Amino acid sequence: MNKLVLNSESLNNVLENKVISRQEILEIYNDSTKNSRELFSAAQNLRKKFKKNSVTFSKKAFFNIINMCKDTCSYCTYKAEPGEEKLSLMSKQQIKDVLELAKKYRCVEALFVTGERPEQRYQEARDWLKENGFKSTAEYLVHASEMALEMGLFPHTNAGNLEFEELKELKKTNVSMGIMLENISDRLTEKGMPHHLAASKRPKTRLEVLENSGKLGIPMTTGILVGIGENIEEIIDSLLAIKNLHNQFGNIQEVIIQNFQPKQDTRMRDSPSADQTYFKTIVALSRVIMPEMNIQIPPNLSPASYQDFLQLGINDWGGISPLTPDFVNPEFSWPEISRVDNYSKDAGFELGCRFPVYPEFFSSLSKELRDKMKLIENEAGLVKEEYWR
Ligand code: SF4
Repeated sequence: MNKLVLNSESLNNVLENKVISRQEILEIYNDSTKNSRELFSAAQNLRKKFKKNSVTFSKKAFFNIINMCKDTCSYCTYKAEPGEEKLSLMSKQQIKDVLELAKKYRCVEALFVTGERPEQRYQEARDWLKENGFKSTAEYLVHASEMALEMGLFPHTNAGNLEFEELKELKKTNVSMGIMLENISDRLTEKGMPHHLAASKRPKTRLEVLENSGKLGIPMTTGILVGIGENIEEIIDSLLAIKNLHNQFGNIQEVIIQNFQPKQDTRMRDSPSADQTYFKTIVALSRVIMPEMNIQIPPNLSPASYQDFLQLGINDWGGISPLTPDFVNPEFSWPEISRVDNYSKDAGFELGCRFPVYPEFFSSLSKELRDKMKLIENEAGLVKEEYWR
């Protein structure tokens, strides 16, 4: 029996709902580097089995609440220093203005993003909070989320490592929340590595936030960043860590597989972007590791080929905004929703607009949140077509 047959057996086991070991996953990856056909077919098969022919997205407005950050990651251009042109310190009025516009564009999600605890490092951030009447960024986010809900938008907050009590408070208004695991390896926090100057990216800290979200029953979006100097074992361990969290708490609603893109003005500007074949293999491998999970790639980060990923196991495009840029990756504008719709149709899939929370997780939400959602919800738990199109 040669290695290829052995690997086929592992993939067959996955197709038969059997659990495979870390070593088998590694062997599947190694085999796929010689011939990816079997892995890609298995991923496509699993995707069809668990997600049928549907692919979803969330129609969102991106609120760049504050982009100061106490940490520094070697690839980040989102973070701004005081005085920089790209600095964002949204006032309550600015939030209200964007909410009104988002409503006009019939967005569903209000994505609230901040840097990591800016008030711990910057006087400017503390002044901004004081001017708006808050003691912490988390407190401001609670208020912003209440504003969004009042206007009929559904908040999803991504504000880094929030404490248990902060998560608990935000759970009242946020239908889901997000924090990328990025990678489980401590090696990427060592000197010379991308997360060396980012204490908040220590895997232990990130896992703690995800565990707390699990204890609180918050539908959580997480994911990995591919191409930042990791090796394949670290990718597999990261995906297995996410899978384990979900097995333990049942609250991971989706996993984003994000490809690194180098940015000028960063220490990693000369690092190549994630290799396309490597990235595709990781996406397919994610489906094999987590057959029933919602798996997403951001279409704007693979502008020339995002539709290819429909055949590799993904079932979601994440948030797409008709209104605001991707402030984390401003060089990569989102594709038009009508284009994503056409590409999905051409590939044999039906595009649906979801809430920032997937239907499988509706039971985690309060009656108040569910009642608001029902106003624009169809029988499949997605947003009514007449609302978002
Ligand atoms: S990626 Fe996040 S934590 Fe890292 S520097 Fe940028 S804003 Fe801060």
